Amino acid sequence: MRHLIAGNWKMHTLGAEAVALARGVASGAQGLACDLLVCPPFVHIAQIAAAVAGSPVAVGGQDCHAADQGAHTGDVAAPMLRDVGASFVILGHSERRQNHAETDAMVLAKTQAAIKAGLTPIVCVGETEAERETGRETQVVGGQLDASLPDGFAGVVAYEPVWAIGTGKTATEADVAAMHGFIRQRLVARLGAGGRAIRILYGGSVRPANAASLMAVADVAGALVGGASLKAEDFLAIARAVKAG
Ligand code: PEP
Repeated sequence: MRHLIAGNWKMHTLGAEAVALARGVASGAQGLACDLLVCPPFVHIAQIAAAVAGSPVAVGGQDCHAADQGAHTGDVAAPMLRDVGASFVILGHSERRQNHAETDAMVLAKTQAAIKAGLTPIVCVGETEAERETGRETQVVGGQLDASLPDGFAGVVAYEPVWAIGTGKTATEADVAAMHGFIRQRLVARLGAGGRAIRILYGGSVRPANAASLMAVADVAGALVGGASLKAEDFLAIARAVKAG
């Protein structure tokens, strides 16, 4: 399965920096064995889509509202993302779940809106440190998958253990293999053959130094990268760590 390396720029970059970063990524994007995606802050999406036009780099949003339009001050609708050049959207990131009290039901509604607008959703799931320490990680992740994904889902899933995001800690390869295997089983049980085709990304302190080993784990089909996506060279080094095949 062809890997997807996705950069989540979070709330970083002013316009000129964002364009320079996107151009840097696009300049090294030819001939890779994986697909590349950058997810800038909403306000830069149109500019970034223009900056990477003609390159293999796709552009995505970091969230969307569940409604197509309406009285929702400060929110952004999925058709708006599509309109300015996004083709993906990250949904249910743990920072949204924690900081904006997003529930699985809200993530499900947003996922449905994204699909309706023609975007590919990247739905994030992952357990907290306390949940892992008490042996509840598969129960938590299984519950998030069941409640956040619509029937017939054909997007991307990102497994991001919350304790590994932005902390410099990564899950061990054995833990990643176990969780990705569990997610795959759950997807196949729910979606049948379609569940086998879904890319499952790993996210949580992916860096050039650990990318090759993480990207080679069974059922890992890419990475969702936060901090290391803010330097084009690091992001491209992660992408180059993906081996063809
Ligand atoms: C993320 O925000 O999705 C993430 C994985 O961040 P980092 O790579 O910085 O841990």
